[in-house]
Amino acid sequence: MDTYLHPPHMEMRNMDVKSLSEGLITAYGKVAFETLDTYFNIHEKRVLSRLNSKDRAVTQSITALRGSIDRYNDANDLFIAESVIEMDKLYSGLEERQKKHPSLGMQDCLVLELLHYFKNDFFTWVTKPKCTNCGKCEDNIVMKGAVPPPNPNPDEITRVEVYTCNDCGINVAFPRINNPVRLLYTRKGRCGEWVNCFMLVLKAVLGEDSKTRYVWNNEDHVWCEYYSHHLKRWIHLDPCEAAFDQPNLYTDNWGKKMSWVIGINDSYVMDLSSKYINNPEKKIDQSTVVTHVSSVNDFIKLSAFQQMKNYVGQLKSPEDYRKFYYDCLVLFRQERNPHRTESLPSIASLNIRGRQTGGAEWTKARGEDGV
Ligand SMILES: [Zn+2]
Repeated sequence: MDTYLHPPHMEMRNMDVKSLSEGLITAYGKVAFETLDTYFNIHEKRVLSRLNSKDRAVTQSITALRGSIDRYNDANDLFIAESVIEMDKLYSGLEERQKKHPSLGMQDCLVLELLHYFKNDFFTWVTKPKCTNCGKCEDNIVMKGAVPPPNPNPDEITRVEVYTCNDCGINVAFPRINNPVRLLYTRKGRCGEWVNCFMLVLKAVLGEDSKTRYVWNNEDHVWCEYYSHHLKRWIHLDPCEAAFDQPNLYTDNWGKKMSWVIGINDSYVMDLSSKYINNPEKKIDQSTVVTHVSSVNDFIKLSAFQQMKNYVGQLKSPEDYRKFYYDCLVLFRQERNPHRTESLPSIASLNIRGRQTGGAEWTKARGEDGV
């Protein structure tokens, strides 16, 4: 009976089909890689030579982020993050979360648990630091300026903001820490610190095979995304707001105007402006931000391929070409299709208007108060 259902020659045929399809994908990956490599080798100099200093204000941010994206893959750092996070707390809420959102997968529910844990139990927002003497953080704290980072600088401090407490007459420093491991212990800051630390924690919780990415906006905000196995697409996450899959949060809820939004992951770079800036009234004309819009956009495409090249490294084996095909080409092309814009109705909670992190005055000054 068994032999009838699975004759030996069928197994042979399945193996042939598998090796044939692997062979085709290897060949396709190789041709695609070589075509793109030739194209960008020819055009790289031209693209770079057209950028002036105004254009480079945008392009250099993308290059810098590409250079630091690998920091969230460090095995030691991930181990520390895993030991600091209360994993049992995340898992204890998982069953309830799944009942509430049956349309989501286990991985998605875990991310939702993490978002709420991170915002409510782990990290703290700082608009201004508390006075180290009286402990008050109101009108008594006034910003004086900023000083350069210390040397040596293991915490990767970008600058130290200096405030004065007018009641006590003392200075209070607020170092802007950039080292994600150090942030696991200090657990405070603004969106830069939040996302930096959250990226490491997210990777630690989802595992090293998960796909996560840093999302940068040219108008001074950052957030992140992960690739959902269940929903088969990249999901927006804003750890500061515990927001899940709400790409219209910034334009429609905060009322934020934006020019460029760029996603950077291990295997490519993606222009996400059309995903996050749907509302034409909130779209900043890119030609008012840079001189050569098309050159900046060419640079983004060039960066995407350079990131793919970094990811696959020295292409030597057929497996490398298949890795290029699956992790770079397939995902990249899937995203270039028009983005879906609706959020999952059971999760989106856009009934609160305006940015929730930061004081009213601060969000208003940034044009993020939803008015
Ligand atoms: Zn004081």
